[in-house]
Amino acid sequence: MRRAQLVSPFGVGAMSVLVDGTSVITAGLDHWFPRNNADLALEDFRVNDWRLEARLKVQEFRLPPDYRKGSPDDHRNEKLSVPALRFPCYSFCMYCKRLKKVPLSFQDAVRCDEPTCVGKRRFGPKMSQVPFVAICGKGHIDDFPFREWVHRSKDPSCTGVLRLFSTGGGGLEGQVVRCGYDAKNQRNERKGCGASRSLQGITTGGMKDESGEDSTFLTQQLAGRSDPYLCTGARPWLHEEDGPCDQPVQGALRASGNVYFPYVESSIFLPQKVGAVSGALRDLMKRADVEPTMTFLFTMRGKDATVAEIRQATRGAGELFDQFPDDELLAAFQDRFGIGSTGEDGDDDESGDLDIWRHPEFKLLRETPQDDELRASDPGVHAAIAGHVDRVRSVTVLRETRVLRGFARGRDNELKIAEGKALLRRRPLPPDKDWLPAYVVKGEGIYFELDSDRLAAWEARGEVQARADLIANQYGQVITDRGGSPRDISPRMVMLHTFAHLLINELVFTCGYSSASLRERLYVSRDGGRDMAGLLIYTAAGDSEGTMGGLVRMSRPDRLQPVFAAALSDAHWCSTDPVCMDAGERGQGPDSCNLAACHGCALLPETSCEEFNRFLDRGLVVGTFADPTLGYFSTST
Ligand SMILES: [Zn+2]
Ligand SMILES: [Zn+2]
Ligand SMILES: [Zn+2]
Ligand SMILES: [Zn+2]
Ligand SMILES: [Zn+2]
Repeated sequence: MRRAQLVSPFGVGAMSVLVDGTSVITAGLDHWFPRNNADLALEDFRVNDWRLEARLKVQEFRLPPDYRKGSPDDHRNEKLSVPALRFPCYSFCMYCKRLKKVPLSFQDAVRCDEPTCVGKRRFGPKMSQVPFVAICGKGHIDDFPFREWVHRSKDPSCTGVLRLFSTGGGGLEGQVVRCGYDAKNQRNERKGCGASRSLQGITTGGMKDESGEDSTFLTQQLAGRSDPYLCTGARPWLHEEDGPCDQPVQGALRASGNVYFPYVESSIFLPQKVGAVSGALRDLMKRADVEPTMTFLFTMRGKDATVAEIRQATRGAGELFDQFPDDELLAAFQDRFGIGSTGEDGDDDESGDLDIWRHPEFKLLRETPQDDELRASDPGVHAAIAGHVDRVRSVTVLRETRVLRGFARGRDNELKIAEGKALLRRRPLPPDKDWLPAYVVKGEGIYFELDSDRLAAWEARGEVQARADLIANQYGQVITDRGGSPRDISPRMVMLHTFAHLLINELVFTCGYSSASLRERLYVSRDGGRDMAGLLIYTAAGDSEGTMGGLVRMSRPDRLQPVFAAALSDAHWCSTDPVCMDAGERGQGPDSCNLAACHGCALLPETSCEEFNRFLDRGLVVGTFADPTLGYFSTST
């Protein structure tokens, strides 16, 4: 497994299947860097982004440990790995269908002890883990309650032998749990009470109870509506088998997509003062003999720390810091701890307002920052696209930090920062000790903005707004049903987002990138003080790759113009048209939040898209069959 995948999609609380077929759940952060390990050198894993640290209220981020063999004279960070626990705990035997539950900490292969299976051998055959789990909306997950389910009781007294039979038919209705039957599905009174129940309906959610609260089939039907079966509060990834929870619980297939929704926060590093700090000094600040004293100084003195005190804190590194002047050292201290940020932007307490958080990135990217961590230049704009597009930037250096801040199960609800962090470890840490798992991508990109006059005229058209409202209303309905808060789904947002997908597809085609290696980043807001209509397309490769220069070259006017032209020409056509374009009236795709956009034309791999492939419509880009002038890029306006 690659390190980045241990942030997402296989981060804390996610299930994955090892090469030997064992299903495991990634353990919580408490056990990622064991404190009793004398060879632990955390400086190899620390990464910082002051804006994101402030937003998520943590001291630092850490890369997932990579497995290192070590050598006779260097044991630093030897043999670290991210722990995982075997889950689900229920297994069943392919031969005799017997169900068996082992403890979470069980390490060995689970073997069947049914006499007919063991026969004359020493051990019975290996059992396989069951494909079912039970999840709740607060992020808990537990084994499916087979014993409770078959006995229709929250606390069954029968301890009979359980088996899971498949009675034909592919669906859950064909899966039957039985108590007191033999391997041949014949009743055996010595083995249990004879209870029998199919799994039909166990994955059904979206129900209501008498008082109108959300409920599920499993909760209402296990013992009956008058005696609802609620979540056990189990957090097996933290080795907690139960806990407080009053939520309904839903059966799920462990391989299904709704079992885990990671919440990843992404930030592009912004220096507090562009060009004030060299990359060399930033690296030095992370040294093991400097970082703790520096952190201590910040805890004690905060923004009042003087240059003399900061220099004092670097003494552990000998003369290494002598070459850097006072103001650079001060700037490095401020960049590390986020001192001097005005707080007017991105200082919002909650995770929701993406445009507030993105605005400072937008303000810096659209200039031509020259910093070791963020560098952009102005390649000019081709005359043929200058009427629509303004301010192209070649972003030669950027650093993106991607952080797992929590997850959800069942559906991707809003997740408060504290709630999300509470799922990742047993007990929350105070902010000055807290950290989250992160991955850092150094990359490059193309940035551009829409022409503001043309955009204003286009968005003022009633039919344009009406088209975007089809999506906005649909999304409003979906998000209200989920108890979330609505967002502004504007014409510029849908249009720029769709155009981003078309451009990425075109760049993949012309430059040979894999589409999973390019990402979009939308800077969109109609809020007066934060008006934005910008798009960044950037490489999302690992630490070492990404600085290939290929994407930067494509931002030159003579290269970018043909890419734009080809993307727009492709926008007119989808292999499923006229079906895809006609779907524009009803909505299609995830949450029915797309109009004319489908896998045949404008969808991307999930890793490339910020919006789960929602809010897409080719109609707003190039017009529809009915109204060819509707698009921002329509040629016949
Ligand atoms: Zn068996
Ligand atoms: Zn029984
Ligand atoms: Zn729960
Ligand atoms: Zn299509
Ligand atoms: Zn997207």
